[in-house]
Amino acid sequence: MLQPKSIPNRDGVSRRQLLSGAAAFLVLSSNSKGQSAQYDLLLRGGHLIDAKNNISGVRDVAVREGRVAEVAASIDPSRAHKVIDVAGLYVTPGIIDIHAHVFTGTNERGSYAGDNSVYPDGFTFRVGVTTVVDCGGAGWRNFDTFRDYVIDRSRTRVLAFLNIVGHGMRGGVYEQDLSDMDGKLTGMACMRYRDVVVGIKTAHYGGPEWYPVEQGVKAGEAAKMPVIVDFGSNRPERPLADLLRHKLRPGDIYTHMYSGLRGELDPSGKVNPGMWDGRKRGVIFDVGHGGGSFSWRIAAPAVQQGFLPDSISTDLHIGSMNAGMMDQLNVMSKMLTLGVKLDDVIRQSTWNPAREIQREDLGHLSVGALADMSVLQLAKGDFGFTDMHGARLKGSQKLICEMTFRDGRMVYDLNGRSRQDWDKLPAGYGSQGDPRWDGILGGYRRGAGGGRRPQR
Ligand SMILES: [Zn+2]
Repeated sequence: MLQPKSIPNRDGVSRRQLLSGAAAFLVLSSNSKGQSAQYDLLLRGGHLIDAKNNISGVRDVAVREGRVAEVAASIDPSRAHKVIDVAGLYVTPGIIDIHAHVFTGTNERGSYAGDNSVYPDGFTFRVGVTTVVDCGGAGWRNFDTFRDYVIDRSRTRVLAFLNIVGHGMRGGVYEQDLSDMDGKLTGMACMRYRDVVVGIKTAHYGGPEWYPVEQGVKAGEAAKMPVIVDFGSNRPERPLADLLRHKLRPGDIYTHMYSGLRGELDPSGKVNPGMWDGRKRGVIFDVGHGGGSFSWRIAAPAVQQGFLPDSISTDLHIGSMNAGMMDQLNVMSKMLTLGVKLDDVIRQSTWNPAREIQREDLGHLSVGALADMSVLQLAKGDFGFTDMHGARLKGSQKLICEMTFRDGRMVYDLNGRSRQDWDKLPAGYGSQGDPRWDGILGGYRRGAGGGRRPQR
């Protein structure tokens, strides 16, 4: 449909030949208009939705050295080394999913510090997600393993909520062990790993005690970080309203808000007054869809009553990835189908979660910000969306990811919009990679700085 305005290949010379060494790269640059180009990349003509900057309208976005360099109604394409036409599409800050399970690789069965989790890169860039937060897979005892196995090896930006349980989310026995929930040790670990740890998780607790929540808050106070709560079993000794009115602090996060498992709606179908009170106090509400935490019969009346999410997240794991959840854009499309406006859905998936995890360097495209960007299509058609119970809601629109950029480099391109048609290239063409903007063929390691650990 749309023809990308890419730069034609030069001189019929194979780019692979040219790119065979660093010196050759300089030759290539001097051959193109890129020599003098001020910007590495220009996304042209898209509808930018940037909640932090109150922008929802057509804007060009220029990138230089991995950061946003200019945002304007029109930017002269001759100033950019690479121009991609994104007219008719939405451009958003890279999407942030604050509830995912990506601590895998340990070979432990039935564990969210193991086989129940997934490697992030297969589930992120293809749906516009550039940052995921692992939601409590690791505790202070096994965080180094998580960092080594996943965080440092992923192209996705991976951050973490540290579990209040020292052993993390290794299953029932571990997660019910109050003696391994130490707010002091957890808070110290949060501070030690504060380059990637953004908060504390408590989850799956079945007992009547408030102890896991209290220790989580203790850690959060020490580290000045939020606590995110999966409230476990619904116990009369610790009602939801008390959690939201008294136990959590402003900025703490209640996830699985539309599960209905802990009285989120009262028996008459009204949103639990404790939810409204919590929101008034500044408690944050997060979707955390998962395999068993999103019900239409909760979400639809709650949205109708005006109880919208602060953040939209997946609760990605092996039990949700092929069930009703599927992926971040599917969950966002569900909220659209419930009548939440597109600008709000994007805010709830970019700038809001960035603020919730105190990473205000992310989630917006201000000049100087990291150029994490998603290019989305809002497709029209006949779609259906299912909940945790297998009940369906029909819909007429669905978000589809066309392109994703991390740190200014393209890492996903569904329809090859950035590429040249093969029959317009010289005979015997070689790799079209270009390290200035291309994270797929441009050489990720080389592009990211010669094999250094990428910035989180
Ligand atoms: Zn979860």
